[in-house]
Amino acid sequence: MRDKVAQWVRPEVRALSAYHVPDATDLIKLDAMENPYHWPDALIESWLGAVRDAQLNRYPDPAAARLKDDLRGAMGVPNGSDLLLGNGSDEIIQMVMMALGGAGRAVLSVEPGFVMYHMIARFLDMDYVGVPLRQDFTLDRTAMLAAIEEHQPAVVFLAYPNNPTGNLFDRSDMAEIIDAAPGVVIIDEAYHAFANDSWMSQLTEYDQLLVMRTVSKMGLAGLRLGLLAGAPAWLAEFDKVRLPYNINVLTQLTASFALRHRAVLDQQTDRIKQDRQILLTELQQFADLIVYPSQANFILFRVGAGRASQVFEGLKAAGVLLKNLDPAGGMLSDCLRVTVGTPDENATFLAALQHVLAGKTTD
Ligand code: PMP
Repeated sequence: MRDKVAQWVRPEVRALSAYHVPDATDLIKLDAMENPYHWPDALIESWLGAVRDAQLNRYPDPAAARLKDDLRGAMGVPNGSDLLLGNGSDEIIQMVMMALGGAGRAVLSVEPGFVMYHMIARFLDMDYVGVPLRQDFTLDRTAMLAAIEEHQPAVVFLAYPNNPTGNLFDRSDMAEIIDAAPGVVIIDEAYHAFANDSWMSQLTEYDQLLVMRTVSKMGLAGLRLGLLAGAPAWLAEFDKVRLPYNINVLTQLTASFALRHRAVLDQQTDRIKQDRQILLTELQQFADLIVYPSQANFILFRVGAGRASQVFEGLKAAGVLLKNLDPAGGMLSDCLRVTVGTPDENATFLAALQHVLAGKTTD
């Protein structure tokens, strides 16, 4: 059996580790950038009314026309740009790479950056080039331009704000990268709801620019819905590798419903932005942490050298799940990432952190 597996599973797949999602049973979940709030009861009732009409016996609208219209309005997609929808933006990354990829073609992004760019590139047999950010997590413009020149990437991904660092890159650096890129540049605005800037309105100024978003972080992670906006000529090609009916009936219906009640989601994101500021200020009170400012719904912080795993495990034992980035190494050594939760969750996290940090120093 093992021999057959080794013989037939592609070497690049065997070399991968599956994307690990930790068990969060009974833990306060501050690891995955989810919005901690659900909807008011009256809204849930009204949604249940809408779901009653869902035609589960039929395939969904393959073009998701109604949902696309709603997303255009809600996301400010400019005239002249089309939309491609994915089962999460993860699926869009995969579709783009399937359409532009193949052996000998490169994907370029930054390190540290979102892991799926690298992972999907690997299993689609593309070369991945990760250009290190500077120590302060800003773009190294010279290194990026040199890597673009050298590797001629089919696609460049820039997350804006970046995950896991939380910062926005400099716009003029990004504009130079877009101008220099031989293929497409995807600006991944997964965290747009928490940031004070976007490239969406610049879409039609650049032929090679595409803007990707998701509804996951704004409160609808359970639906799995991402979108790519850009020139129809690119999207029509990417659409050919999309599996039919990738956006299911319940997602189409529920996302449209939620966008009609956008005010509720906006209130939640406003709340999260305020709480991000409070959490940041509180974290900065810890003398032994380096805390990085964030335009997203999470905060990256660095603990004392060699202590990240102990702090992570201590928090988990206290019932709070964060993301431990230390195993990624490099610039993320000693780093943890916390998602902004409810005020109660944030307070529980801060108290546990105080306890864990103090516990160690008194050892
Ligand atoms: N882009 C970035 C930068 C992300 O951090 C994430 C999720 N962590 C995604 C894309 C994928 O989001 P989803 O598949 O939920 O749309």
